[in-house]
Amino acid sequence: ASLFSELPEAPLDPILGLNQQFLADPSPNKINLGVGAYRTEEGKPLILNCVKKAEEIVDNSGKFNKEYLPIDGPADFYNASQKTLFGDTVATHGDKFVSVQALSGTGALRIGMEFVKKFFPKDTTVYISDPTWPNHKNICTAAGVPWKNYRYYSRQKNALDMAGLLEDISAAPDRSIILLHVCAHNPTGMDPTPDQWNDIANLIQKKNHIPFFDCAYQGFASGDLDRDAEPLKDFVRRGFELFVAQSFAKNFGLYGERVGTLTVVTAQTQTVKALRSQLKSIIRANYSSPPAHGAYVTQVVLTDEKLLREWKEELKGMAGRILDMRVKLYEALKQRGIHWEHVMKQIGMFSYTGLNPEQVQILIQKHHIYLTGDGRISLAGLSTRTVPILADAIVDALT
Ligand code: PMP
Repeated sequence: ASLFSELPEAPLDPILGLNQQFLADPSPNKINLGVGAYRTEEGKPLILNCVKKAEEIVDNSGKFNKEYLPIDGPADFYNASQKTLFGDTVATHGDKFVSVQALSGTGALRIGMEFVKKFFPKDTTVYISDPTWPNHKNICTAAGVPWKNYRYYSRQKNALDMAGLLEDISAAPDRSIILLHVCAHNPTGMDPTPDQWNDIANLIQKKNHIPFFDCAYQGFASGDLDRDAEPLKDFVRRGFELFVAQSFAKNFGLYGERVGTLTVVTAQTQTVKALRSQLKSIIRANYSSPPAHGAYVTQVVLTDEKLLREWKEELKGMAGRILDMRVKLYEALKQRGIHWEHVMKQIGMFSYTGLNPEQVQILIQKHHIYLTGDGRISLAGLSTRTVPILADAIVDALT
């Protein structure tokens, strides 16, 4: 007998579980379009050159060591990260930003939600887009914060459900938390237009809601960091108090290094000190202090003009290859008589194909092409060689 003999198994994470299924598939032709991680044309993970150079500096310059970091990370790191995210609004509003290092985007979301749990009125609910990255719900639940969905996407029309979104955000009790993807919405790849963002911001303002931005794909929507963060900067210029979880997993290719930040924007500079102290107290009880290596590497790139320029070029390269795959897939389908205009309207790392669960199973079981059950494919997992294979499989699944 064991203390744990009655313990049920936890359900597999849908995305990480899919990865296990892929690894176990013996087919030599298998293709993994499940996990949202960048791959080269050869299907290999990519370490950016700017990262390799920064690692050299971190290891050999004598400026860095393995001492504990401050609870909230190095100020040089989070200040540089802030500049990447908030651009010119740092100059105008930066005295009201409180940033701390976090364990990538997930960790930032978790610290933020624990803060909400601790300091917001008891029933404060987080409104999450339907659909969204599934872990948003896990994070809220684990932090003890109630969550609900707001409508975001119409599967019938393969388009944003703007009317539904506005209706649900309007119906939410005043001072709710609205979780928004800054750009390259996961999983749909459909972002609001500037006009639609304007309507969303006006409504959130009217309702006194608190925006909580998730920024996991900055640079992957347009290839340009500044442009991708525009919706967030607009909220800042309007004077919102808000939260932002910033991940460097995708745009720096630092997935396993777990590098990110959480920033809280306040309306009053007097509250900055209390905010930082409370965020630090939450971090202290979770993991004492953050990991150093990835933060130092990121800091070195962000604070060196030449490396920063190189990063932006390499990021543009990744975004460009993904866009190339999107166009190639669209064209390959068109040649086969399938006109998927929505594929070209979507942006970022993913395409939300509109394939239903049965069709997804045909791709997985019969063609060894792995994608999530909602029909999302990671375009970054495609190559010029595999696009026609995918297009043929889609034709098969549709007919
Ligand atoms: N938000 C979204 C929308 C994501 O897709 C991801 C990564 N899949 C994350 C946050 C967090 O990722 P990480 O913790 O690796 O930064």
